[in-house]
Amino acid sequence: MTLLRVENLTASYGVSQALYGVDLDVAEGEVTALMGRNGMGKTTTVKALCRMIQSQGTLTLNGQDLHALPSHKVARLGVGLVPEGRRCFADLSVRENLIAAARPGYWTLSRVTQLFPRLAERQGQAAASLSGGEQHMLAIGRALMTNPRLLVLDEATEGLAPIVRQEIWAALHRLRQETSVAILLIDKSLKELATVSDKAVILERGRTVWSGSMADLTPEISEKYVGV
Ligand code: ATP
Repeated sequence: MTLLRVENLTASYGVSQALYGVDLDVAEGEVTALMGRNGMGKTTTVKALCRMIQSQGTLTLNGQDLHALPSHKVARLGVGLVPEGRRCFADLSVRENLIAAARPGYWTLSRVTQLFPRLAERQGQAAASLSGGEQHMLAIGRALMTNPRLLVLDEATEGLAPIVRQEIWAALHRLRQETSVAILLIDKSLKELATVSDKAVILERGRTVWSGSMADLTPEISEKYVGV
């Protein structure tokens, strides 16, 4: 069943238009990679979805119009965002950060710390004292603690050490196999995206130019639109 529906989405920063017609569907339990070169509109699409910028077009979650809602209500409706540049409460401990985000559901402190054992080891530490990779895991953990129906990861592993990236990809594989959360995923690593995603949507200059099953994403298409 389609959870997120985006049709002909447009958005601007002041007078500068960034999205010209984004089409994108995410079904329950499905992982969709949102792809495209730098500056093509991926983050802007995420911002529109989370109601952080004004947009026009169709934007529904489970049939409900997101345009009618402020961003905190979109979060309450079940969109868990892991933003670019991860945001945690620096002075709170890992445990406090996780508990502060908690809403009832499958994801609890114990399940999140099982998914990311490093967070279990550092439960009492202030978030500010974690490495960049650990803070990223904490940001994903915080989003999971809200028990989202749709988890949105903008730059899932950007700028992280290879070992940490591997841990995050492994966690995403587990999420895909063990839970029904839908995931919208942005990352630069086509190889990893291809192994974890069911579908891909490619943006060019603020428009959807290709969408389909990951299995149908040929090297020619990737080279044309993503430059790989
Ligand atoms: P990247 O992979 O580099 O993060 P992206 O695909 O996420 O790129 P966006 O960040 O959505 O792309 O940018 C889409 C367009 O909107 C670009 O032309 C960018 O310059 C412009 N843009 C992004 N943020 C702003 C802003 N705050 N003010 C004005 N223009 C912006």
